[in-house]
Amino acid sequence: MAESPLITRVNLADRSYDIQIGSGNLAELSSFMRDRCQGSHVVIVTDDQVDPLYADKLGDQLAGDEWEVHVLVVDAGEQSKSVEDVHELWETMLEEGADRQSIVLAIGGGVVGDLAGFAAAAFARGLQFFQVPTTLLAQVDSSVGGKVGVNLPGAKNMVGAFWQPRGVLIDVDVLATLPEREYWAGLAEVVKYGVILDAEFFAYLEQHVDTINARDPAVLTYVIERCCRLKADVVEQDECETTGLRAVLNYGHTFAHAFEAASKYGLLLHGEAVAIGMECAARLAHQLDRIDDDFLRRQTALLKSLHLPTEVPEFDGDELVRIMRRDKKADEGRLRFVLPTKLGHVELVKDVRVDDVLAALKAANA
Ligand code: NAD
Ligand code: MG
Repeated sequence: MAESPLITRVNLADRSYDIQIGSGNLAELSSFMRDRCQGSHVVIVTDDQVDPLYADKLGDQLAGDEWEVHVLVVDAGEQSKSVEDVHELWETMLEEGADRQSIVLAIGGGVVGDLAGFAAAAFARGLQFFQVPTTLLAQVDSSVGGKVGVNLPGAKNMVGAFWQPRGVLIDVDVLATLPEREYWAGLAEVVKYGVILDAEFFAYLEQHVDTINARDPAVLTYVIERCCRLKADVVEQDECETTGLRAVLNYGHTFAHAFEAASKYGLLLHGEAVAIGMECAARLAHQLDRIDDDFLRRQTALLKSLHLPTEVPEFDGDELVRIMRRDKKADEGRLRFVLPTKLGHVELVKDVRVDDVLAALKAANA
C-alpha cells in the first residue's frame, strides 16, 4: 500500500519552498510543478545513467501534460560538474529557445542538481528551478539548502551561487536502482544528522537498521523527511553561510576532505570518507573528554551495521594534517573541528592540537 507523502517546508521568506517525500509520487510531478511556477517550457537536465531509468519517462509524462520539454543529458560522474558542461548547457538552452519564463528541472544525483542549479541561477539572471533528486545523498543533503555550483580543476565547488528551487520532489522508489555503495554512502550523511542534531533520530536509525538496509519505502520516507527537516532548520538560520551555524553540517568532513584529497578522489566515495571522518572526530572528542565510551561505541556500531567503513585507510598522518590545514574551512592554518559533546549536539572546537589529531587517526586505524 502506498504511504501518503510527507511535505516539509523550507522557510526562507520569498524563497520558501516545499520538499515532498513519498513512494510513487513521481506521477504527480506535473501538478507539483504547475502549482509552484509560471511558464510551460521545461529544460530537464539529467545524466546518461538516470536518463534511461527515469528522466526520459518523466519528460514524456510532462510532454503529455502540455509542457514543452527539452532533455539535456550530461555524462554521469563528478567530471560533468565543470565550467565546460555548464557552458554547453547554456548554449543548448539558448538554441532551444529558453527565455526568462523557462524552468530548469534537475533529475539525478548531486552532480546533476549542482550543475543544473547553477545553470538555472545564472541563465537570463535566474530561472525557476526544480529538483527531483535520485540518489540518497541528493535526497537528504544536496537538494536541500540552495547551494549550486561547479568545480574548477583542482578546486571543488569553487564557482557557484545560492539559488533556491521552487520545489523538490523526492520519490523513495527510485532508490531501488541505486548501486549499493552509493546507497550506503548516502546513509553516512543520514547518521550524521542524528549525531549532530537529533539523538532520538539516531536511536530510530539504530532500531531500524534492517528495514533501512532493505530500502523499505515507508521507513525511507520517514528517514528522508527527518534529514530534510533537520537540514532545513539549519539552512533557515544560516541561508548563505554567514553566521557560522551551517558549520555543524561539516561534522566528520574535515577528516573526510583530507581522506578524499589524499586519495585523489578515486578510492572513497564522499559518504564513505564522511563515515571514517565521523569515526575520527568521535575518537578525537573522546580523547578530549567531550564524549563517553557509550557514544563512541554506538556511533561505530551504527555506521558498521549500515555497511559503512570506519577504519582509516593507509595514509600518512602528517600529510593528512597538512591537507587539513589547507582546508578552506580551516582558520588560518589552525585546526578546527566540529565535535560532539553528546548524541544530538556538536560544537565548533578551535585550536585542536596536532598530536591529538594524529592520535585520533591512529586510534581509528586499529
Ligand atoms: P552523483 O550525482 O554522481 O550520482 C552517483 C551515481 O549514481 C551516478 O553515476 C548517477 O548516474 C547514479 N544514479 C543517480 N541516481 C540513480 C538511481 N536512482 N539509480 C541508479 N543510479 C543512479 O553523486 P551524488 O552522490 O548524488 O552527488 C555528489 C555531488 O553532490 C558532489 O558533486 C557533491 O559536491 C555534491 N553535493 C552538493 C551539496 C549541496 O549542498 N549542493 C551537498 C552535498 C553534496
Ligand atoms: Mg557531505
